[in-house]
Amino acid sequence: MREKKKLLERWLAESRSTVFFGGAGVSTESGIPDFRSVDGLYHMKYDDPPEQIISHSYFMRSPEGFYRFYRDKMLYPDAKPNPAHLRLAALEEAGRLQAVITQNIDGLHQMAGSREVLELHGSVHRNYCMKCRKSFSLSALMAGEGVPYCDCGGIIKPDVVLYEEGLDSDVLERAARYIREAEMLIIGGTSLAVYPAAGLLQYYRGDKLVLINRSETPYSSRANLVIQDSIGMVLGG
Ligand code: ZN
Repeated sequence: MREKKKLLERWLAESRSTVFFGGAGVSTESGIPDFRSVDGLYHMKYDDPPEQIISHSYFMRSPEGFYRFYRDKMLYPDAKPNPAHLRLAALEEAGRLQAVITQNIDGLHQMAGSREVLELHGSVHRNYCMKCRKSFSLSALMAGEGVPYCDCGGIIKPDVVLYEEGLDSDVLERAARYIREAEMLIIGGTSLAVYPAAGLLQYYRGDKLVLINRSETPYSSRANLVIQDSIGMVLGG
């Protein structure tokens, strides 16, 4: 493990362009559970699986049901950046990291100080009226209960990519460009099972692909360095 971390640090110091791609595991270490697992076998509080509730058609059909789950399981306004977020922000500040590409929607990278953050699945911090497009902060949304409404009567929707919805093509293109031009690519906190992680990986052409994840991923054999450990411990320790 120490040898692997030493190699990681050497590559970080040598690489002229490094990009980080992070998944749910980066946020779980800040106490934000992966919503795919939160309503599992142990607490079947909801009649439908999360994937169904967090879908476009469910939102349109039952914004009440959507917001009950969303407020309960997807908003963590008190969560704080962990050592992984802080290290990535410091690396960017030092000119050693070009961008953070994330599947998380919690805004913790920006809270840690990262500036170039590509949010593939949107952000809970941006919300907009479906009728007049006026935007709302998370705290405005948190102030009320149930379905939030705009003054104009429109329903406020989070700028979060729901199931059945496409990813923002601009964000995807920028992510692909960063990965294509990266000398070093660090993938952390994801098993790469969730779209579009595996697809984006194909753009990488370098020979410093680092996978940091607690469990093994199907892409371990493609990586140049695999560290099976907590992302916060590896990057921040
Ligand atoms: Zn409105």
